Amino acid sequence: MKEISCKLLVIGAGPGGYVCAIRAGQLGVDTVIVEFGKPGGTCLNVGCIPSKALIHAAEEFGKIAHMARGKDPLGIKVGAPTLDLTKTIAWKDVIVSRLNSGVAGLLKKAKVKTVQGWATFRDGKTVEVETETGTQVIHAETVVIATGSAPVELPFLPFGGPVISSTEALALSEVPEKLAVVGGGYIGLELGMAFAKMGAKVTVVEALPRVLTQYDAELTRPVLKRLGELGVEVMLGVKAKGLSTKGDALLVETAEGKNARVAADRILVTVGRKPLTEGWGLEQIDLDMAGKFIRIDDQCRTSMRGIFAIGDVTGEPMLAHRAMAQGEMVAEIVAGHKRSWDKRAIPAICFTDPELVAAGLSPEEAKAFAGEIKIGQFPFAANGRAMTKQGEDGFVRVVARADNHLVLGIQAVGQGVSELSAAFGLALEMGARLEDIAGTIHAHPTQGEGFQEAALKALGHALHV
Ligand code: FAD
Repeated sequence: MKEISCKLLVIGAGPGGYVCAIRAGQLGVDTVIVEFGKPGGTCLNVGCIPSKALIHAAEEFGKIAHMARGKDPLGIKVGAPTLDLTKTIAWKDVIVSRLNSGVAGLLKKAKVKTVQGWATFRDGKTVEVETETGTQVIHAETVVIATGSAPVELPFLPFGGPVISSTEALALSEVPEKLAVVGGGYIGLELGMAFAKMGAKVTVVEALPRVLTQYDAELTRPVLKRLGELGVEVMLGVKAKGLSTKGDALLVETAEGKNARVAADRILVTVGRKPLTEGWGLEQIDLDMAGKFIRIDDQCRTSMRGIFAIGDVTGEPMLAHRAMAQGEMVAEIVAGHKRSWDKRAIPAICFTDPELVAAGLSPEEAKAFAGEIKIGQFPFAANGRAMTKQGEDGFVRVVARADNHLVLGIQAVGQGVSELSAAFGLALEMGARLEDIAGTIHAHPTQGEGFQEAALKALGHALHV
């Protein structure tokens, strides 16, 4: 049995773990990272990156199919397109594998030792890793748990056969003729919309009265409109109950309590993700939990000295950029820097068509926090760039305190607004006032002008609406 020692051991090479290891390595901390699968974790291999590749391919295909139907006003004439999904998936796999190599290279450059295999705690300072060549024991002064999350499985709809998770949906060889999506959160709607654009008849089954519940109803309206245009049926207040005996339909209970069937050759279950807290000896070290997540403080320290936890295993929002920011902070703490979690906003993006962004407080949260607030909302229908991109649906909304105009929250829905999220995050982090955004020259013609106009609107003197 091989034994090694290090100052820092990171378990899991997702965005949280690999960023933590790279930063620690850059700071001269003797670091080992253990990863069971490929570098990059859920995000790079079966999450953010492959889903955005598929969404892009679907968008391109959908545009051409729309033009071929003679419905587009641009005057472009094309024949009906066909889609070879195996090629699309192969293209996506090349991107993923280039990025896998990129992460592996960055770890190497930072002098981080990578051990491939499944890690299990022996005690708070010792981990056993089952590698291809046998068991390796790693002793560490400090351990960072970054084991991430996995799709939630419904007991009455177990994964297998026609019932798939997002992981299998990102590796299909054929577009399903009829796709039922169970769960109207961001993963279900992003993938459901993509498959609808690729030609599937998509039905979304959601138990709650709304989809995308982390965004307010006004914000999601343009997305619902687009789902309708794409022929996606959204069944609200409807509970999935199981798979038909023949495996060709999803059995559901309607809002009125009636049993019904949704014909489907694939059933994509996207009802959330659960933190990976089992199967690696967590019980050996008896950490305090916060529900199903590992409890952490504002430095990502767990209840046991010398053990940190970051990323999806520590709670909501389960997002890659939160995991990365935590990873970077923990590496600096381990290297002796004074750091703690002081972020004002973790922007949340939904890559549907149109896209959604929410950063900071919603209008309701801002009202509860600050009492009187000012809201400025600017529609993309009045934005030249959005018009030239055929993206008039949507708006930017800025929410600020009424007394001192401190911006508390920014939301947007519209084509490509994910790229505005950096400006929104920066404004919130820097404690911008409405006057700061209104007084910044935003290049013309860009959708970013909508951000400036929303701030002007909140101040009572928008120029273009
Ligand atoms: P993970 O990325 O889950 O990585 C954990 C790693 O630990 C895994 O590689 C796993 O193999 C390894 N591991 C676990 N246990 C062990 C063990 N005992 N020994 C060795 N290795 C172990 N987030 C966004 O911010 N933007 C998006 O657009 C986005 N899109 C998504 C789309 C989909 C379809 C999915 C599923 C997720 C998406 N997410 C997105 C969420 C994002 O993927 C996660 O928030 C992020 O990956 C969490 O990072 P992490 O480092 O905590 O864990």
